[in-house]
Amino acid sequence: MDKRKIVILGSTGSVGRQTLEVIAQYPNKFSVETISGWNNTALLAEQARKFLPKTVVTGDEKNYQELKDALKDLPIKVLAGAEALNEVVSNGGVDLVMAAIVGFAGLMPVLTALENGIPVALANKETLVVAGDIVMETAKRKKVSVIPVDSEHSAIFQCLQGEHGGIEKIILTASGGPFIGRKTNFLVNVKRDHALQHPNWHMGEKITIDSATLMNKGLEMIEAKWLFDLQPEQMEVVIHQQSVIHSVVQFVDGSLKAQMGLPDMKVPIQYALTYPDRFENSFPRFSFKNYPKLTFDRPDIKTFRNLALAMEALQKGGNLPCIMNAANEEVVHAFLKNKIGFLEMTEIIEEVMGSCPWMEKPALADYRQCDQSAREMTQKLIAQKSN
Ligand code: MG
Repeated sequence: MDKRKIVILGSTGSVGRQTLEVIAQYPNKFSVETISGWNNTALLAEQARKFLPKTVVTGDEKNYQELKDALKDLPIKVLAGAEALNEVVSNGGVDLVMAAIVGFAGLMPVLTALENGIPVALANKETLVVAGDIVMETAKRKKVSVIPVDSEHSAIFQCLQGEHGGIEKIILTASGGPFIGRKTNFLVNVKRDHALQHPNWHMGEKITIDSATLMNKGLEMIEAKWLFDLQPEQMEVVIHQQSVIHSVVQFVDGSLKAQMGLPDMKVPIQYALTYPDRFENSFPRFSFKNYPKLTFDRPDIKTFRNLALAMEALQKGGNLPCIMNAANEEVVHAFLKNKIGFLEMTEIIEEVMGSCPWMEKPALADYRQCDQSAREMTQKLIAQKSN
């Protein structure tokens, strides 16, 4: 059997590193064609040395020389810049692109891959939040699959295998993050290091903060809408602190299917790489003996208002999710730098959502424009708060 040729965009991030760990288990099944990173040039070079891809890309051009020097004894092509990311997903002979770049930056390479008929394993949820209509329309027109990597969406995707529609609703589970049960009087004083301590999942910084604010679940509702063609009323969020039921599909006959397992991103990553097959692995196994009690609660959207804002963006649609996402990326970044407080993130997002002009049916250029202006507005508000 030919090896599956994989491009990994964002190989130095959390999902990218775990993708390489999965691939390393099956040297005869996969070949890594291209890896890309942003700032962690040392790790990118180390990965290149181990997996010997044909091409390595640094998204940030200022790291080009350092990367080139680090790999000068190897027959590896080194490229830099955003255009290079599009180039490596335009080539024929690629079987799957793992899209693991965080944020809006992942949108263009995903669209380019789909336009070129290359299936995408999508870990970058912001891509669908920002321009889900365009992304899914492109995938449909080119008849290519978008395979979810996000654990909840992978769960739903797995539950839908062998089904022919008939979804009544989906239930997205949420761990609740590190501040579950807390109220505003506590949250007002929360700092980055505390917010970065997620109880169950080990993930990148951006998504860990999004999990603490529950924005992550809001982004995931919008992601699910596009992936599974759902109406807002067909989605429910349930707090399930143990994170072993990864999500649930309820069908029109009242039957429920859930996908379960330990909270380990390598499982959905592996499924996206091997789909529609399953490969044996030696990851730790779930045991009911270790989980005598599974709990389910309503999310507290009065305290964690980011989820309410995301539900509003989901309902209203158009460019509002794009605006919300841009503001969220900026405030999370500022919070990680201790420039603004935990609750100020929500205040700023809300203000930006209320101020940017709404468009019902934006084109790709409109999304880019509105991402840009929402970021600028957010930056101003951050500057005001941090003075
Ligand atoms: Mg998730």
